[in-house]
Amino acid sequence: MPNDSIGKIRAEVINCKSCDLCKNRTNAVPGDGDSKASIMFVGEAPGKNEDEKGKPFVGMAGKILDETLTKVGLVRSRVYITNVVKCRPPGNRVPTEDERRTCKDYLEREISKISPKIICILGRTAYQSLLGGNSILGNRGKFIQKDNRLYFLTVHPAAIIYNNKLRKVLELDLETLVREVKRLEIS
Ligand code: URA
Ligand code: SF4
Repeated sequence: MPNDSIGKIRAEVINCKSCDLCKNRTNAVPGDGDSKASIMFVGEAPGKNEDEKGKPFVGMAGKILDETLTKVGLVRSRVYITNVVKCRPPGNRVPTEDERRTCKDYLEREISKISPKIICILGRTAYQSLLGGNSILGNRGKFIQKDNRLYFLTVHPAAIIYNNKLRKVLELDLETLVREVKRLEIS
C-alpha cells in the first residue's frame, strides 16, 4: 500500500470492529513510538491498563520493559512498540488464532511502514504469530532472518512478574539486541 501511513493504521485500529475483541474494550491500543525506529517490539495484547489508556505497555509489564530499555541505553520514544492484537482479550486470556489472524494485517502494515532493522519478539504469542515458533525459553537470544526481515527473540516482560530470574535474561537479551542494531547501523 504505497499511501499507507502509521497515522492511517492508528486511525483504523482505533475504530476497528473486525473481531469480537472490540466488544469488551475501552480503547483499542495501536502501536506507539517512533515511526522511523530501528527497533520494533511486538508483545501479545493490551492488558487492563493499556485498555484504559489506549497505549501499549503502560502497566506492570510496561514498567519492567521501560526499566530494561533504560538499562540497556534505549529510549522508549525512539523505538516502536506494538502488539499482536490491538484490543484487550477479556480477563487477559491469550488471543485466539482467529483474533490474531483478523488483527494481523495491522501488524504487517506497521512492519512494512516502519521497516525496522530488527523486530524484537516479546514472548510466545508474538513468536507463534510472526514465526510459527513455540518455545521462547529454548530460543531466546536468537536472531532469525525470514522473508527479508530480521527478528530477535526474547521473553515477555510480564513473565518477569512471576519469575524474577527472567529480569536478567531480558536485560542480557536487550544488550545483545542493542549491540546488533549498532553494528547494522554502521555497516
Ligand atoms: N502485555 C502485552 O503483551 N502488551 C501490552 O501492551 C501490555 C502487556
Ligand atoms: Fe480490530 Fe484487532 Fe481490535 Fe480485533 S483486536 S477489533 S481486529 S483492532
